[in-house]
Amino acid sequence: MKYVGAHVSASGGVYNACINANAIGAKAFALFTKNQRQWKVKDLETDVIDKWFLELEKTGVQTKHILPHDSYLINLGHPLVENREKSFAAFVDEVQRCDILTLEKLNFHPGSHLRKISEDECLDNIAETLNRVIDATPNSKVKLIIENTAGQGSNMGYKFEHLAHIIDKVDDKSRMGVCIDTCHMFTAGYDIRTRETYDKTWGDFDKIVGREYLLAMHINDSKPELGSRVDRHDSLGEGKIGWDAFKFIMNDERMDDIPLILETINDEIWPEEIKALYALVGKN
Ligand SMILES: [Zn+2]
Ligand SMILES: [Zn+2]
Repeated sequence: MKYVGAHVSASGGVYNACINANAIGAKAFALFTKNQRQWKVKDLETDVIDKWFLELEKTGVQTKHILPHDSYLINLGHPLVENREKSFAAFVDEVQRCDILTLEKLNFHPGSHLRKISEDECLDNIAETLNRVIDATPNSKVKLIIENTAGQGSNMGYKFEHLAHIIDKVDDKSRMGVCIDTCHMFTAGYDIRTRETYDKTWGDFDKIVGREYLLAMHINDSKPELGSRVDRHDSLGEGKIGWDAFKFIMNDERMDDIPLILETINDEIWPEEIKALYALVGKN
């Protein structure tokens, strides 16, 4: 079974994400549990939490199919220790918010070296910070879901080897997972447009990272070309990837039972995009 949805707005309160997900016929969804562009936000209030559970129930969406995304400000691999500390504290807070909402997965971008340290040092910093986050939240049920990136600027995570490097250095691997974004994958140089290239790319993923770590996906077409290292999403079928890749995904059992989240650019057509994806099931 496939669980498709979109990254919906939680503006006005996290429970609004449930309402917005329901309105587009989503069977999965993503959200920010706090303002993604601010360091300090107030704790979740009791009435907001109560409303969350009330609205969540109405969606019928299982918590394993909800993919909260962390703040854009967090950089777990920051070259400066004091900035890394700030990101550590903010990330622990994100994990705790997820636990309060009974969410099981927290999606994050690995981090950036800002051209001050090497790629390997940055990856080591990320793994070390993740170990500290896991130590600081021993009773948490939240898996930390690393997202692959397009490799824009100094962002790490554009190679499968980066994801493997981080997981390898995290002690408690049961707390780790991976989210693969199709646009980021494609612009990072991994082709998925034909049966042959799709199988090659996912074969590499299985070998380098391990399919057991694939716990979420972002389903986006791409405005830029293959290997351009530029992160610009497009509506499905409108970009350089095209429908075949999404057809392969909708018929690939590796993508069963995980959240498949649209972050495509026109939210008005999300209901049609969700329907179109489901219509591909069985069309292999
Ligand atoms: Zn994404
Ligand atoms: Zn992106």
